[in-house]
Amino acid sequence: MLPYLTTHFGNPSSIYSFGRETRLAIETARKTVARLLNAHPGEIFFTSCGTESNNTAIAAAVRDLGCKHIISSPIEHHAVLHTVEHYACGDITYSFVKLLRNGHVDLNDLESQLASHPQRCLVTLMHANNEIGNLLDLHAVGGLCKKYNAIFHSDCVQTVGHYPLDLKKIPVHFISASGHKFHGPKGSGVLYVNDTVKIHPFLLGGGQERNMRAGTENIYGIVGFAKALEIAMAHQQKDSTYIQSLKTYMMQQLRDNIKCVSFNGDAEGESLYTVLSASFPRTEKSEMILFNLDINHICASGGSACTSGAEQASHVIRAINNNPNLVTVRFSFSKYNNTEEIDTVVEKLSGLL
Ligand code: PLP
Repeated sequence: MLPYLTTHFGNPSSIYSFGRETRLAIETARKTVARLLNAHPGEIFFTSCGTESNNTAIAAAVRDLGCKHIISSPIEHHAVLHTVEHYACGDITYSFVKLLRNGHVDLNDLESQLASHPQRCLVTLMHANNEIGNLLDLHAVGGLCKKYNAIFHSDCVQTVGHYPLDLKKIPVHFISASGHKFHGPKGSGVLYVNDTVKIHPFLLGGGQERNMRAGTENIYGIVGFAKALEIAMAHQQKDSTYIQSLKTYMMQQLRDNIKCVSFNGDAEGESLYTVLSASFPRTEKSEMILFNLDINHICASGGSACTSGAEQASHVIRAINNNPNLVTVRFSFSKYNNTEEIDTVVEKLSGLL
């Protein structure tokens, strides 16, 4: 990224040499991303983030592709949930699929919902849940969408850069990705649009991104996105095995050292290896757990929003396990973590709970 922050300042829309230089950098980045996702470069659009990619796909499905009903789930990221709620107005409706007890999407319910809607549906379901880690079977959902002529969008923000995705084989129309989830720069995203669907831009203005996304390109973000994805995929097998071993180790240590710990979602099954959502019995001490972890320099999130002093479980935890007697902490792992750090966290936790 550095050359584009320090010396290569050309605007890629300019036809003179400085512009051509940065234009080349964007197109090279596009080819890299396309190669790594097994897509066509014409199917890759650079955006400002995963949220913009989600907004673009959902808006286009409703506006350009004739989708009259949106099927989603209550555990999507707000970048999908709030967008679905926004576009479901007038003659556009939405519904949520049922979830199984372990938080997975009930595919039978998805099929019966698809079958019961005479008009075209958009199915928007995330590949991996960012709080509980549950993984969706993209092939199964894509197959159902194909059968019922539905449009399929998947928020793959948690999985691009962490799993090999072969977009020539996965029956999906749109996927969203975000650079900072695989050590790329924040404020960089990608929307994959399968070349069988034709949509209009979400941001209107200039002709950038082949008339699909107006606005001068974030060159360093785009170059950084592609480079980070290249590095992530080059080490994907080794890194994922290592990170999974950290997650497994942490589960074991928590079980061995902390009474009544429980794990949310399908933590030992079809689950993202980078996150672990753990719940502890609610006590005066456990209610302060996030605060106390932070004081101890341990960065974990609650998946919870604190409003007017009253702590409320996140919408994901509420949807799968609405137990007010539990407090939930989401731990996440990367290749930069190690087992000594986990030992420290578990030791501190035992003292804090
Ligand atoms: N979708 C999921 C599953 C996420 O985890 C996130 C970010 O945490 C987003 C969407 C939003 O991505 P961005 O912050 O790049 O807009």
